[in-house]
Amino acid sequence: MTECAGCGTLLSPKYPWHLCPDCWKEKYGAAPGWNKKDNEFWLNTIVRFELNVLSLMALHGNLCLALRHPDNKGESRGIMIHFVQLVGRKLVELNAITPDQRKEAESGLVVP
Ligand SMILES: [Zn+2]
Repeated sequence: MTECAGCGTLLSPKYPWHLCPDCWKEKYGAAPGWNKKDNEFWLNTIVRFELNVLSLMALHGNLCLALRHPDNKGESRGIMIHFVQLVGRKLVELNAITPDQRKEAESGLVVP
């Protein structure tokens, strides 16, 4: 179980927001997820979900390939490189891949 960051109410681990519906409505004046013009929403809303290690490896491998595409040079590139490195570190921590495999997979990924 996780707790609402506002009131401490216990939330299901599958509940995707950091605030319970009541706290979200009190803070943002709308149902959870609906406050898309507020930077706090985009930067501080924590989304929780679960993946098995195989899916995490597929995510890492596919993102590494996508980040090598020559047209992948938008503003989110730096965020995605940071994310893929985070996933790579987790895969090494889980002994799913070796540090050398991570290095090879992430080689050449440069933040613009
Ligand atoms: Zn709450």
